[in-house]
Amino acid sequence: MRTKIVATIGPASENESVLRHMMIAGADVFRFNFSHGEHDWHSMMIDKIRKIAEEEGKNIALMGDLQGPKIRIGEVKNGEMFLNEGEEINISCQEKISDENGIYINHTNLPSEAKIGEVILINDGKLKLRITSIHPIDGLKAMVEIGGFLSSRKGVNLPDTCLNVKSMTDKDHRDLAFILQHQFEWLALSFVRTSQDISELRKAIAKTTKKQSPAIIAKIEKPEAVKNFDSILRVCDGIMIARGDLGVEVPFELLPVIQKSIIHKTIPTAKPVIVATQMLEGMMTNTTPSRAEINDVANSVMDGADALMLSGETSSGKYPGEAVAAMERIILKTEEYKSIYHKSVTAHPSGSKRFISDNIISAAVDLSKSTAAKAIVIHTFSGYTARMIAAHRPESRIFIFSDNQKLLNRLNLQWGIEGCYFKHPGITEENFSDFENILTKHHVVSDGDLVVHVSSVPPTQKGKSNMILLHKI
Ligand code: PGA
Ligand code: MN
Repeated sequence: MRTKIVATIGPASENESVLRHMMIAGADVFRFNFSHGEHDWHSMMIDKIRKIAEEEGKNIALMGDLQGPKIRIGEVKNGEMFLNEGEEINISCQEKISDENGIYINHTNLPSEAKIGEVILINDGKLKLRITSIHPIDGLKAMVEIGGFLSSRKGVNLPDTCLNVKSMTDKDHRDLAFILQHQFEWLALSFVRTSQDISELRKAIAKTTKKQSPAIIAKIEKPEAVKNFDSILRVCDGIMIARGDLGVEVPFELLPVIQKSIIHKTIPTAKPVIVATQMLEGMMTNTTPSRAEINDVANSVMDGADALMLSGETSSGKYPGEAVAAMERIILKTEEYKSIYHKSVTAHPSGSKRFISDNIISAAVDLSKSTAAKAIVIHTFSGYTARMIAAHRPESRIFIFSDNQKLLNRLNLQWGIEGCYFKHPGITEENFSDFENILTKHHVVSDGDLVVHVSSVPPTQKGKSNMILLHKI
């Protein structure tokens, strides 16, 4: 399987046997959604996942997802209430329990930032209100245009309103400290609007840790992020197309084109791009996906995404393991479709910093294609060569050998990269036969198969691949 699976954990996947089922079924990355759960619970889950990963011999990455300036409803009296269409309701921005006298939205400045006539969407746009009056102190009144049940802590989107919010809340800073302390491989930031949001996060990380810091994913879920996409892509380490909020913040019919254009722009940068939300939503309650969901997963594979994400399906659905297994089945079948391979990555101008290695990488991929090599084998220090090779989406499988477990875990989010832990001081050409023996033992290659090795010689040339060897097993 070349396309990776990110599985969000939650109460439905708390159990060790469920986690193991998900891992064996094909989950490559586990996402911790810091919108929910206490740090104690997250600590317990980190230990469980790391332990099972070791037992199963998998390079599992952990992703911490900061909720960012997410606007929400507070607690609702008795957990749930009903909003009737055509009814006018009070909205307060001072903390209170929401009830028939009014609902609470956790954004204090809303009365000064919102305008009459603007829309308030609740619970992924399932409920729709329109602002009818604004009082600087008392809050707002709004007309219910689409009614329904409202339950505690549901998300609120204000697509028309220009909100003046910081990119990280105090809670995000506390969650960030926890994520750094536990050395997560990936860190996702919600509601990114500009490249500055990412730079500020990097500064906050640098203040806290000098150790290896997590790679940063920008979640694209605001119209501003779509507008500023090119500059955001330049400064982050990966992208998530967060279709849940995005589909509420922009007219939903724009989603398919935004998804395709973001994937198309991200692949050549060798940064992973994740398609997220509602991929197998029906499997929250059903054992099989809908026909539309099967197609959504397959089409995202064909678009060339690095990874597909499960959210509610694995965090609170009834069938977390089955959802991962269904996704894996669709991915595997779709990957038999040849046109997903060999996406062209532009040539590298002479004088570029990585002129030699980038050309070696293109040549290695071309060679793997023309010889129908079974595998491209990379000895990697920084992961750069592996990521760039994967960006070409070769049909040959991509193996990396490294003694850096954190790096192997991190690269597990990226399309096609399969990591093998290999401890050896200073790798030389003699190790190539060790690599081939390991791959033979795992039935990846057998006698007569061709393998393309990519490395740097002498080995002190860390991260600067300059050598290709085509070898017959
Ligand atoms: P969330 O992000 O699940 O944290 O909201 C994903 C999305 O919005 O699609
Ligand atoms: Mn979101």
